[in-house]
Amino acid sequence: MPSRSVLSTTERQLRSRLRQLLGQAEGFLHGSPIELSRKCGKPSCRCATDQSMRHCSLAIGRTRQGKTTMLHIPKSMEAQALRWIEDFKKAGALLEALDEQGRLRLDAAKATRKKALSASQNKTGTKKKTGQKKTSRRKARKRPS
Ligand SMILES: [Zn+2]
Repeated sequence: MPSRSVLSTTERQLRSRLRQLLGQAEGFLHGSPIELSRKCGKPSCRCATDQSMRHCSLAIGRTRQGKTTMLHIPKSMEAQALRWIEDFKKAGALLEALDEQGRLRLDAAKATRKKALSASQNKTGTKKKTGQKKTSRRKARKRPS
């Protein structure tokens, strides 16, 4: 965990929401709910003749590396599976927002570094300093062998 001062208010809030979600969520499921309807095969069942009477069930579809797989969900677990999907989406959105914060922080750090570099080049004559840096680097490289 970085020191609090490094993090923006936004990033702190996002992290706290993610922590809260991780603490509360029963589970996470990545996929899209798909409603399946099928005939059960019994000739006497109404589904055999009436399309609107077909048996519905829930599956979770997920595509990975171009392959789609379906996870069938029993009736008693449908509500739970849908909650897990929702929580996966929430976690994903928080991570996306945290990605944005990370990029902003890197951009800011890069800008500060650039400023510091140009400031130090303006101050000193530079030639002596760069010479010193090179020798210290060479020494460091030799040591491991
Ligand atoms: Zn049927």
